[in-house]
Amino acid sequence: MTIIAFLEAQDNKLKKTAFETLTAARGAGSEHKVIGVLLNGTPEQMQEAAEYGLTECVNVTHDILNIFSPAAVASALAQVAESENADLVLLAATIHGKEVGPRLAVRLQAGYIPDAVALAISGSDVSATHPVYAGKARVSLKIETAKKVVSLRPNVFTAKKVDAPASPVARSFAPSLGTGDAKAPVSSVSRNTGKLDVAEAEIIVSGGRGLKGPEHFYLVEELASTLGAAVGASRAVVDAGWRPHSEQVGQTGKTVSPNLYVACGISGAVQHLAGMSSSRYILAVNKDKDAPIFQTADYGLVGDVFEILPKLTKKISETVQH
Ligand SMILES: Cc1cc2nc3c(=O)[nH]c(=O)nc-3n(C[C@H](O)[C@H](O)[C@H](O)COP(=O)(O)OP(=O)(O)OC[C@H]3O[C@@H](n4cnc5c(N)ncnc54)[C@H](O)[C@@H]3O)c2cc1C
Repeated sequence: MTIIAFLEAQDNKLKKTAFETLTAARGAGSEHKVIGVLLNGTPEQMQEAAEYGLTECVNVTHDILNIFSPAAVASALAQVAESENADLVLLAATIHGKEVGPRLAVRLQAGYIPDAVALAISGSDVSATHPVYAGKARVSLKIETAKKVVSLRPNVFTAKKVDAPASPVARSFAPSLGTGDAKAPVSSVSRNTGKLDVAEAEIIVSGGRGLKGPEHFYLVEELASTLGAAVGASRAVVDAGWRPHSEQVGQTGKTVSPNLYVACGISGAVQHLAGMSSSRYILAVNKDKDAPIFQTADYGLVGDVFEILPKLTKKISETVQH
């Protein structure tokens, strides 16, 4: 099979998910051909991707692609997939990837599995598992169509470097894109506050109603800063106006899969679990030993966040320093 791995970048830097996508594509086995696709890519991006096994690369060049438009990206990727006669396109289920994936599948008349947490490629068979019913169950699907598109949940597929990176063979591709594919910016607002985004973070410390008020969230922020983590929140505290919606984790917030998720004063409602249950490790701090979060957590501390969080922060900062 020919597999295309879409290597998504932001602010001119490849995202971590690009390396995860590339690693997942390579994981299919050496009998398959893997082509990485960059949009207005740079030599630095190619070099970085080479460390994760990129050997062949198509660099799609077009001014329209400088401003993200799902229609334009889907059209460009579809044109590359057609010109390379690709059987499978892999992309990350990031905020942008979720917009591009279904559009791309329609353009290619391909079967589509979104937000996969497991992928199996054998010969020309492609199967993947993805969570359903707000993460309560997982369904395994096999794509029956000739062309296939799968988006991969971020942080689930581990990015692996190769021992001996080679210089990728790169070629340019100029897609045919019309102004109808472009987005016309009316105004742009930068929300980059210098804080880590929960959707990208390797470690997240989240707070819930157990914090009792916004004035106590410094406990969550201090622990997060000690761990180099992003701050997350339950919907209850976002609805109460304690925290911004950009931090909300769950069914109506962001889906996250960090290496470590620390839930502080969060009960573990099914809608919250929908957004974080695929985290590698979950540590819950809750004063109610019967809180549902403990059924999902790998580690649990039964107690008061006001006592435990300062101690945890102190202990971790001592450990990190020594
Ligand atoms: C359609 C729909 C979509 C939703 N989407 C989301 C979503 O995206 N994300 C989300 O989070 N929720 C979502 N919800 C809401 C969800 O059902 C819960 O109401 C919410 O997650 C509860 O937030 P919480 O755990 O912070 O608060 P609570 O459920 O009130 O839990 C607070 C917890 O803190 C503990 N606690 C209290 N004091 C302390 C203390 N001093 N020390 C330690 N622990 C303490 C309590 O034991 C309790 O377990 C959604 C609901 C619906 C209906």
